[in-house]
Amino acid sequence: MRNRLSVIAACGLVFLWGCEDSEPETTQIPPTPVTTQRIVEAASEPGSWLTHGGNYQEQRYSDLTSISTDNVSGLELAWHFEFDTHRGQESTPLMIDGVIYVTSAWSKVFALDAATGELLWRFDPEVPKETGINACCDVVNRGAAYYAGKVFVGTIDGRLIAIDAATGEQAWSAVTVDQSRPYTITGAPRAAKGLVFIGNGGAEYGVRGYVSAYHVESGELAWRFYTVPGDGPDGAASDEVLAQLAAPTWHGNDYLEYGGGGTVWDAIVYDPELDQLYIGTGNGSPWDRALRSQDKGDNLFLSSVVALDPDTGTYLWHYQETPGETWDYTSTQQITLATLAIDGSTRQVLLHAPKNGFFYVLDRTNGQVISAEKFVPVNWAERIDVETGRPVEAPGARYEQEPFVSVVGGAGAHNWQPMSYSPQTGLVYLPVQQVPFVYTKQEGFEYLPGEWNLGVNLGDTPLPPGDDARAEIRAGLMGWLAAWDPVENREVWRVAHDGPWQGGTLATAGGLVFQGLTDHTFRAYDASQGSELWRFPTQDAIITAPISFAVNGTQYIAVTVGNGGGLPLTLPTFGDPAVTPNGRLLVFALGGTASLPALNLELPEPVLVEDFLRPEQSAEGFALYGRFCQSCHGIEALTAGVLPDLRRSPALADPELWRAIVLEGAFSPRGMVGFQGKITAEQTEVLRGYVAQQAARINPPAP
Ligand code: CA
Repeated sequence: MRNRLSVIAACGLVFLWGCEDSEPETTQIPPTPVTTQRIVEAASEPGSWLTHGGNYQEQRYSDLTSISTDNVSGLELAWHFEFDTHRGQESTPLMIDGVIYVTSAWSKVFALDAATGELLWRFDPEVPKETGINACCDVVNRGAAYYAGKVFVGTIDGRLIAIDAATGEQAWSAVTVDQSRPYTITGAPRAAKGLVFIGNGGAEYGVRGYVSAYHVESGELAWRFYTVPGDGPDGAASDEVLAQLAAPTWHGNDYLEYGGGGTVWDAIVYDPELDQLYIGTGNGSPWDRALRSQDKGDNLFLSSVVALDPDTGTYLWHYQETPGETWDYTSTQQITLATLAIDGSTRQVLLHAPKNGFFYVLDRTNGQVISAEKFVPVNWAERIDVETGRPVEAPGARYEQEPFVSVVGGAGAHNWQPMSYSPQTGLVYLPVQQVPFVYTKQEGFEYLPGEWNLGVNLGDTPLPPGDDARAEIRAGLMGWLAAWDPVENREVWRVAHDGPWQGGTLATAGGLVFQGLTDHTFRAYDASQGSELWRFPTQDAIITAPISFAVNGTQYIAVTVGNGGGLPLTLPTFGDPAVTPNGRLLVFALGGTASLPALNLELPEPVLVEDFLRPEQSAEGFALYGRFCQSCHGIEALTAGVLPDLRRSPALADPELWRAIVLEGAFSPRGMVGFQGKITAEQTEVLRGYVAQQAARINPPAP
C-alpha cells in the first residue's frame, strides 16, 4: 500500500513540475531569502507568518488591521483544504511569499497557494505506523520551520527532515533520537543563525530529554544539550553544567534507567535582542520523584526555562518553575518575549504560563523571576516566593502518605495550546483549563520498557456509575479564555467555555482575538473586553491556534481544524463521540464565498454481544483495558471520536478478527499495534468482554 501511495505522490510531482518547456512570461524579482535577518525584521512584512509563533518573539500577534472589530461580522470562508485523516491536527501554518506550509498528523507537510488553497506539493515522511504507539497524545505535529529555502519538519519516529520549499523534495534527513527508545517528535523546529533546533517527547514512557541544533544546509549535528544528567559525560554542550549544577540535585541511580525526563517537546525560542535560545523542559520520568530520585533534590533541569548560547548550546542561565517535579508539571509551554514597562523601568521579559498554574514574568537577561501569580485556583503551592524564586509547597502535595487531590492536574492549567500577546492592549490571551487530578502512588511500581511509566495511578479508579455523579465530574472540568495583564498580574476579563481543551489564540491589531473551540466553533472576541463578535461552525473541534496573513492586499485568518492531542482521547464526555470529517485548514476573508460540504456522517450502532465475562474477570478486564487501551481509546471506551470507538467496532462480535487485531497486529499498518508478548490470547478475550460490556451500556439489550 505504501508503495502505491509513493507512486501516486511521485506522479503528482511530475504533474506539477514536469512541464519545464514553458518559460515564465514575466520576470519576477525573487523574494528575499528567509534567514535570521528577515525574521528579525518580520514587523516590516505583517502579511507574512514567518515562524511558528509569527516572529522570533512568538507573540502570535498580527499587525494587519483590515479585519477589525467593526467588520469581523462579515468574515466568511474563503477556501478550505482537506487533509487525509481525522487524527489530531495541532499545526500552526506558516505563510511565506504567497505559499502556506502546514503540517498534519503523521508528520506530513502540505504546501498550498495562500490565495486559492491549490495544492502545490505534499511531503509524506512515511512514518512507520507502528511507532505511533510511542506518542502519548496522538500522532500530531505542531508545525514546520522555514529557513533559507527549506522547510523543516520533525517526525513521530524522531527524524528531522529538510524539504526543498520550491519542489517539495527531501534535501536531507537526520535521525535525532535513539530509535530503540520511545522518543517522538511532535513539536515545531525553529531556525536561526544557520541552525535548526529540534527537541523531542516521551517522558511518560521514560526517556532522557534534550535539544539539538543541526546545520541548515548540511543536516550535520552542530550541538546537543541534555536537560538531565546521564551516567557520565556525553561529549555534548551540556556536560559541564550537568556535572556542576544538575547532578548534585539528583539522588540514586534509578533515573538513569528510566531516562529522567525533561523533554523539550514544544517551546524553543531564539531571542535576537540578547542572542539567547530559550527552551522549556518537561516533567520527570517517572512522575513520582520518590521513584526516580529517592524523593529528594530539585532534579535540574526538569520543569525549567533554560537559556543557551544558540551557536554552541552552552548554558547561560536557568529558572526552575517546579523544583523536584512530581505532578507532570511540564514547563514546555509556549515562551513569549516582550518588552514591558514594570514599576517605572523598561524590562526585557519572558512570559510563561506552564502547567503548574502560575503565570511567570522572567527577566530574560538573567532568568530572575519578576512576578509569578496564580492564573487558576492552585493548591499544590501557596505562592511563589519571588525573593528565592521557589514555590511555597502545600503540606501533602507530594502525596507521600495519602492521595492528593490537586486542582491542577497533569493536563495542566495551560497546556501546549498557544497563547498570544497584544502590544496594543498589553494583554496575554491565554487558554486556561481546570482539570483536577488525584495523585496516588502506584504500589509495586515496575519499570516496563515501551509502556507508560508514571509511578502514579492513572485511571485505576472506575468512574462512578450514576449519571448524576458523572455530570458532577464533567462540571468540574472547566476551561476559559483569560485576558491576563502581565504587568498588573491579574485577569482583566474571561470568557467561560463548556469544558477544557480549547484551542490556542491569535491577537490582531484590528482589536480582535481569535480562538477555536472543541464545540466545533471558531470565534472572534473584542480584545479589550472579551465580547464575542463572530463565530463560524467548523464541523469539528479546533485545538490549535489561528494565524493571519495577507496576499494581494487581502487579509486572511487561517486555522487547522481537527480534534486530537492528549485530553480528548481520554476525557470522559459521557456522551456519544462526535462524528467528524477529515482534518482541514480553513481560511477566512471578508466577503469570502466558500462553504463547507454538508456533514453527512452517521455514528454506527454499538455492537451488542452477549456478556460472556465471568464476574471475577471484570476487574481484570478493567485493569487490562486501563493499561493497554485507555490512553488512545478513552476511559470505558468513551472516545471523543479521534480514534475508533471500540464499542462500535465490528471486530467486537468476531473473536478471530478481534484477536488478529489486538494480539497479532493486523492493523499495524494503520498504527494499531498488536500486543503479542504483553497479553495472552485469553486476556485478549477478557478485553473483548470488557469492551462489550461498555458497548451494552450505550444501548442495553432488552431483558
Ligand atoms: Ca508529560
